[in-house]
Amino acid sequence: MGEYTAFPRSDLRALLQLAQSRMVPGGAEPPPEIPTIFAGGLARHSVSGRMFDTINPSTETVAARVSRGNTDDAKIAAESARSSFEGSWRHMTPEERGGLLSHLAAALEANAESFAALETLDTGKPIGSSRGDISGAIATLRYNAGAADKMEGITVPLGNGFVDFTELEPLGVTTHITPWNFPLGMAVRSVAPALAAGCTTIIKPAEQSPLTTVAFAELAACVGFPPGAVNVVTGFGEEAGVALVEHPLVDGVTFTGSVETGRLVGASAGRAIKPVVLELGGKNPMLVFDDADTGRAVDSAMEGAFDNCGQVCSSVSRLLLQRGIRDEFLSRFLHRARKLKVAPGIEDADLGPLISEAHFGKVAGHIEDAIQKGAKLLLGGNSSGRKRKGYFVGPTVFDEVDPASALVREETFGPVVAVSAFTDEDEAIRIANGLSYGLAAGVHTSCMDRAFRVARKLDAGTVWINGWFIGGVQAPTGGVKDSGIGRERGLEGVRNYLRIKNIGIAIAGNATG
Ligand code: ADP
Repeated sequence: MGEYTAFPRSDLRALLQLAQSRMVPGGAEPPPEIPTIFAGGLARHSVSGRMFDTINPSTETVAARVSRGNTDDAKIAAESARSSFEGSWRHMTPEERGGLLSHLAAALEANAESFAALETLDTGKPIGSSRGDISGAIATLRYNAGAADKMEGITVPLGNGFVDFTELEPLGVTTHITPWNFPLGMAVRSVAPALAAGCTTIIKPAEQSPLTTVAFAELAACVGFPPGAVNVVTGFGEEAGVALVEHPLVDGVTFTGSVETGRLVGASAGRAIKPVVLELGGKNPMLVFDDADTGRAVDSAMEGAFDNCGQVCSSVSRLLLQRGIRDEFLSRFLHRARKLKVAPGIEDADLGPLISEAHFGKVAGHIEDAIQKGAKLLLGGNSSGRKRKGYFVGPTVFDEVDPASALVREETFGPVVAVSAFTDEDEAIRIANGLSYGLAAGVHTSCMDRAFRVARKLDAGTVWINGWFIGGVQAPTGGVKDSGIGRERGLEGVRNYLRIKNIGIAIAGNATG
């Protein structure tokens, strides 16, 4: 391994200070070149020596140059994770693993402001949102620290002649492929339960936003995680991602991202008979009935549609309004949406930019397509002419969208909402369930009978009643239909990384009791 340039632990501080020096365009030196392949407890450059740029989407300037991982780097990370699993991690007691996760939570808390700044540098999101994301990651670490020694098997009643029980074993080495919308939050969401379960981990962060994940791996090493328990390979999906899914030393894969990529990852894991968790896209409907509390429904829609600039798998992207409440709801919703401030992340506005130029092009394409197909634009929609640096799209609301439009049928992943009207419960459910997605859905009504009736009929892994984004680290989340396989968060999240071994014992001379 002599050919690699390892950088000392003190560079965690340099990484965390990066955000302060580079948040404002033009202020700083050339972008730093950071070795971001983290394996065996050290950060390295790629074997190929290749780098790529990670861009600050608020300014379109290069935040940093990071390592472009490939198959060779994936191999190094997989070997490091395997030797850590066999050599130390699986032999630690659950209490010791939980203790380390608690230390990591405390270390992240102590560095929360720097991590938040780094997240805002890399994603453009408002600094207040980044602070919330880091708090969420800390809570996730603490929850899973507590879960580490509470995952229990069962005894199985086979009768007097036998003792039969199950033991829960860690899967082994796990790969975690994460998206760019909540970079650290998504990484910790699956890595923390994997570590709690006794697995070692390799994270492939999204190429758009790798920085906090690399800092997180450094931090884990600093608090005493054994080398190889947390590894990171930065790079592109088709190179580093594919290699990490397919590597024979990897025993399980967790992927969060688009449906198209999820199909590829699922197929590849299927060929190798590896367990896989897929959390994919959504086109999530919020149903507002005439008897709803309009104020609460508008609050939910505002948060659901525009939080993180609509770049959330479980965003409100379809607003289904019953005809009697439609006008009042829309006038209050549009009044609020019009006031939202859109600005670079450090200004801590309501909405930051979209993540990248490519993603900006996709969202603008959905908006243009809807306009061309005759949709009625109620707010925004002027994304085509960019007047300033940064990939900004303001809140955009359409009514009467052609059901064939991409805006209705595909995940837009931006601050764009398609409104449609319905007459009764059956029609609302038919529209809501009419797509291949099934991640999240919501119902606003003051009738509890209706709320439960509708909740049970909605095709979604999560249904929220009279609110949106209800839940936290304790509540399992995931999709049905094309929105995914498996559940994350809660104790379900830890079970993803455990396999059941059944042990049966015959008791000689005891067959008849
Ligand atoms: P998006 O299109 O929004 O970037 P993706 O689903 O393609 O979403 O990306 C989510 C994550 O999956 C990223 O970390 C990306 O690098 C990774 N990825 C992309 N393609 C593949 C692939 N074929 N195999 C494994 N990972 C991939």
